[in-house]
Amino acid sequence: MHTERGQAMQQKLRAAGIQPTLQRLAVAGSLLVRPVHMTAEQVMSAARFQLPSLSRATVYAVLQLFVRQGLLKELPVDGASTVYDSNTSPHHHLYDVETGEVADLPMSGLQVMGLPESLGGLQLEGVDVIVRVRGLRGRTAPAALA
Ligand SMILES: [Zn+2]
Repeated sequence: MHTERGQAMQQKLRAAGIQPTLQRLAVAGSLLVRPVHMTAEQVMSAARFQLPSLSRATVYAVLQLFVRQGLLKELPVDGASTVYDSNTSPHHHLYDVETGEVADLPMSGLQVMGLPESLGGLQLEGVDVIVRVRGLRGRTAPAALA
C-alpha cells in the first residue's frame, strides 16, 4: 500500500500498537476509513477485493486484534451475529430485526433512567442500548430519537 490513504492507515495501526501487515491493512481499509457497521462476512468480502487470498480465520483474528487494541467495538446485535463498529465513541444503536441493518443513535437521543446509584460496588463502565426496529432501510434515526 503506497497511497496516501495507505500510509495514514499504517500510522493508525502503529498508533494502536499494531504492526501493519498486508492482511491487517486489507481489513483496516474496509473498516477504519469511515464509521461503518459490518459483520465479519461483510468485512471479509470487502477486504478480499484488496487481498483475494485473505482467509476467514485471518479476518476473524484481525477483527479480534482490532477490538483488543481499541480500534473497533463489537456489537452483539443478536445471538447469532456480531457487528463490528468502527465508531468507538459512546453511542446507542438502531437495529433492524428484518434486514440486520444498524444505524447510530447519538447518546443525546436516548436517556437511560433508573440505574441504581449503587451497583453493589461495581464501577459503571458505560451504557449502550440497541433499539430493535423494523423498516430502517434507507432511513436515518427518527427525529424523536435523534
Ligand atoms: Zn455505531
